[in-house]
Amino acid sequence: MKIFDEIAKHGHEQVVLCHDQATGLRAVIAIHNTILGPALGGCRMWPFASEEEAIADALRLSKAMTYKNAAAGLNLGGGKAVIIGDPNKDKSEGLFRAMGRFIQSLGGRYITAEDVGTSVENMEQIKMETSFVGGLTEEFGGSGDPSPFTALGTFEGIKASVKYRLEMDDLKGIKVAIQGVGQVGFYLSEMLYEAGAKLFVTDIYEDKVKTVVSKFGAKAVSADKIYSVDAEVFAPCALGAVVNDDTIKQMKFKIIAGGANNQLLDEKIHGQKLKDLNILYAPDYLINAGGVTNVFFEVINEYSKDRVTKKVKNIYNILMEVYQIAEQENITTAQAAARVAERRLNLIQKVHQNYLRK
Ligand code: NAD
Repeated sequence: MKIFDEIAKHGHEQVVLCHDQATGLRAVIAIHNTILGPALGGCRMWPFASEEEAIADALRLSKAMTYKNAAAGLNLGGGKAVIIGDPNKDKSEGLFRAMGRFIQSLGGRYITAEDVGTSVENMEQIKMETSFVGGLTEEFGGSGDPSPFTALGTFEGIKASVKYRLEMDDLKGIKVAIQGVGQVGFYLSEMLYEAGAKLFVTDIYEDKVKTVVSKFGAKAVSADKIYSVDAEVFAPCALGAVVNDDTIKQMKFKIIAGGANNQLLDEKIHGQKLKDLNILYAPDYLINAGGVTNVFFEVINEYSKDRVTKKVKNIYNILMEVYQIAEQENITTAQAAARVAERRLNLIQKVHQNYLRK
């Protein structure tokens, strides 16, 4: 891998290789873009097969965070950290404190948070060495569980999608198939139920399904039948890559709008397929931005539930704009979301340049 060529290709600002002799820490911090503010993105721990793979993941994920934060209207750039190691075997307080010292050394250009393979406890260990960490528990002065806000953003996104695609102002009688009723899926079910929607739910844990069935009058569906439910909306709230050639064939949905990350197996191919079938797709990184919005207010020290709620509800308006751009320019909604992000980045860059000229 020619690292500088890779960095230049995607426009990254900085990539830091971190090594700590005492703990064996090997990590990569990738800062893609800080035009809008400090680069925020989670710290992943994974037994990468090679160093190249770890660097490639950090580069890819940090760029995705730039787009997510920009499209969601947050004053944050995009960054990501990856620790090379097995989260089941290689974790220690020392390792995360060493990571915290590297983050501190960047002086606030990068702010970290929990991600795949790391926990809130690990973030508290990082916090012992740096204040540039978000998503902490309330007892540690953090904003606590982000899932209710991720669910709220998803709920607003479903309302916007129903308005755009079905021209309906509310969700009364709208049928929604929810895949996964964990944290996000549960809160989303509650909001949809209160709004009068009819729910179809699946999960690999039967007890979770039972709870939603008894509390919100949902109908239980087996995991493999969720794609063919006769509902207007499909809300993936479990795994990634669930929208693919095989599942699209089974779908009668008019809208896909859920909280899961990386829903499309291939963004280009499956984004286009959904467009061709007139299935409206709410870009995942935009509709699930409620969680990062919660962390945003925590890291800028302006946290209040009211502020977060107001900002998260704005996902409705951002999605409406994305849908209009997609229609006017005859592009997929994923491409339109990227346009919204790039437009904002270009505008703020120009503002900076003009300011420097003065
Ligand atoms: P979670 O683990 O609490 O819930 C996921 C649920 O999906 C679990 O109940 C699990 O049993 C179920 N599940 C797994 N495989 C399944 C399958 N094949 N069929 C049906 N159900 C299955 O996780 P969460 O925090 O609710 O997050 C859900 C999704 O939303 C993830 O993709 C996550 O990356 C994304 N997300 C979450 C947040 C957040 O604030 N929690 C923020 C942004 C994105």
